[in-house]
Amino acid sequence: MSRYDNQINENRFATIAVGAAEDITHSSHGSTSDVVAPIHLSTTFEWAGTGAANEHEYSRESNPTRAALEKQVARLEGGEHGLAFASGMAAISTTMLSLVPPGGHLVSSDAIYGGTEKLLTKLVAGHLGVNVEFVDTRETENIAKAVDSNTDLIWVETPTNPLMRLCDIRSIADIATDHSVPLGVDNTFASPYFQSPLELGADIAVHSTTKYLNGHSDSIGGAVITDDDDIFEQLAFAQQVGLGNVLSPFDCYLVARGIKTLPARMKHHQKNAIAVARLLEDHDRISRVHYPGLESHPQHDLAAEQMSGYSGMLSFEFDGSLTEIEAFVKGLTVFTPGTSLGGVESLVEVPSLMRPDEGSHESATTDIPETLVRLSVGIEDVDDLCEDLLSALP
Ligand SMILES: *Cc1c(COP(=O)(O)O)cnc(C)c1O
Repeated sequence: MSRYDNQINENRFATIAVGAAEDITHSSHGSTSDVVAPIHLSTTFEWAGTGAANEHEYSRESNPTRAALEKQVARLEGGEHGLAFASGMAAISTTMLSLVPPGGHLVSSDAIYGGTEKLLTKLVAGHLGVNVEFVDTRETENIAKAVDSNTDLIWVETPTNPLMRLCDIRSIADIATDHSVPLGVDNTFASPYFQSPLELGADIAVHSTTKYLNGHSDSIGGAVITDDDDIFEQLAFAQQVGLGNVLSPFDCYLVARGIKTLPARMKHHQKNAIAVARLLEDHDRISRVHYPGLESHPQHDLAAEQMSGYSGMLSFEFDGSLTEIEAFVKGLTVFTPGTSLGGVESLVEVPSLMRPDEGSHESATTDIPETLVRLSVGIEDVDDLCEDLLSALP
């Protein structure tokens, strides 16, 4: 696909994913010639003299392991600059706090990750007095109506959690450009393997690396990638000096290691998710399956155009009672009930029972149906996943 040609000039995605962290740190491996970028735990680095610091001075400000990961995520997203944060929420809050002043104006998708919604309503609006407008971003028109030249930031997520709704990044980016407003895209659900927001015109791509990038459910982290030098400077100041919410060297190592298998894992997640989505779509107790890879998804055409694949996240509406859903979850042996997503293992979550506070907000145009079940489809054997679901469904 063309996005890969433009994305990185020398190598293709999978090659970058495997080699990027090491390419960058080979020069600092010194005489030991490590094939894998080492974990640099040192908090401080020797100066050559009082007027001559070496490349790294103090690990909050810069650290070789973090620098390697930051270059790696930037290259995966086809961006100039990358920053690695202590969590996805640290990445998102730092972006918002850096770009939106108290009393400013922020336009957000109305179907976003629960933590981001709470950040926006409780802290950004509640504490900083920012005018936060939630709009249904499935229709670009709604963004066009809400944005003006005083808007400080447009924030979208696509596909969204948990209803797998999409927005058209390219057409929203056109509106953002017309008004000189930065556009941030939370790309966690698609991963850079399946979607490139910067190439579609966004200014900022954000990840919870906790999910697909690390991919093994053993590290909390976040990343921001941008091509814009000014945005980068503001975020880097906040990350390294003002807020100090950097990712630890050990976690940087884990994420860099996870990224090497991102292409292999994403292909497998998607293959399994398509099989599971089709199976669920055929089941007579399931009224709707939300998966952008299904022809029945109302935005399937947009998905096919702006994404190169559909990832491993899906949800479905069960035609029955909450008691039956409880029994279904109990009956599963391969899918583990739990929150989070994007790891190699399959997880099941019932938002209304397990995350009851995330179903609605003030201006919500949509509520999450009570009998919605969300699956993070892992990379286990697809027959085991399908048999598990079939035997637990009534
Ligand atoms: C998990 C998640 C976040 C938050 O990331 P943390 O690493 O948990 O702080 C943000 N956005 C999306 C879409 C997520 O799935």
